[in-house]
Amino acid sequence: MENLDSTINPVVPMLSIVLSVYNEADGIADCHREISSVMSSLNCTYEMIFVNDGSSDGTERILREIAAQDSLVRVINFSRNFGHEAAMLAGIDYSRGEAVICMDADLQHPPAKIPAMLESWRAGAEVVNMVRADRLDANAIQKANSRIFYRLINSISNVRLAENASDYFLISRRVADILKSDFRERTRFLRGIIQIVGFNKTTLEYVASERAAGKSKYSFFKLLRLSFTAISSFSKVPLQLGIIAGIIFGLISIVLIIYSLIMWVHDTPVSGYTTLVVFMSAFASIQMFVIGIIGQYIGYIFDEIKGRPIYIVKEVWG
Ligand code: UDP
Ligand code: MG
Repeated sequence: MENLDSTINPVVPMLSIVLSVYNEADGIADCHREISSVMSSLNCTYEMIFVNDGSSDGTERILREIAAQDSLVRVINFSRNFGHEAAMLAGIDYSRGEAVICMDADLQHPPAKIPAMLESWRAGAEVVNMVRADRLDANAIQKANSRIFYRLINSISNVRLAENASDYFLISRRVADILKSDFRERTRFLRGIIQIVGFNKTTLEYVASERAAGKSKYSFFKLLRLSFTAISSFSKVPLQLGIIAGIIFGLISIVLIIYSLIMWVHDTPVSGYTTLVVFMSAFASIQMFVIGIIGQYIGYIFDEIKGRPIYIVKEVWG
């Protein structure tokens, strides 16, 4: 049915490839070349959408040249940097293909896997999750962090996210339209969202290679923030930490109160200095921590209420 539509209307490509690009001047031409060469071996109409997320190096100029030479390329130029998630969403919004593939523009997501992804889509999958079987760009600590993150989010939310899921995935037009109309949250974790929309899903494995050029835009703290964003958009358990801490401290208080009263009745003054210090410090820090978490969630509500745009497009070429 989907393939039939694209033969009736040749303007609609079968596949849209969305690439988010931020300061990738050194590698972007290679990326375009490699994807084009994979696609030329396939019997498939396509468009390549580069979303330039406010790059400050020569990326914009190079993309302009690529778009001028290759009629299958479109460039969405943001007015400033809005972040990777916003760039992917913009690409999905502007895509027209019957299927949409999102991938990074640093060749860490091997274009050689595109044929297999299309194969799964033709076989009926509406979401093709690409899961990293291994990554050559990360050390043992980074891999462990990623594992801890997925364990944590799966244990405290009522969704099951595939471990090592990535921002390399294929979605059908139907899923792309759902993201476009119904998932406009300001706090997003797209690779999680595509796993909860339902429909037929499959998972394929790939090995993430080293970056072809340039360096990663995600520092440890940016990743930490992304992790909290992901957890808060899929779970309310952090908000319940206050209740759990309250119950534990309540139980300890009961013991302390009974002990103190007994000592008072027997007229034996206790030197409770240590108890007081331990109790007060632990209580104060847990309280601050819980207030901080509530603050984060309020921040997300605040962003949502303001309803500012997720991204602003400066111009579109191609
Ligand atoms: N990216 C983006 N906006 C940003 C940061 C990154 O569009 O603010 C793009 C970047 O150009 C790359 C992809 O998102 O194509 C993934 O970023 P990166 O390779 O730095 O992340 P890593 O692979 O190290 O997790
Ligand atoms: Mg990368």
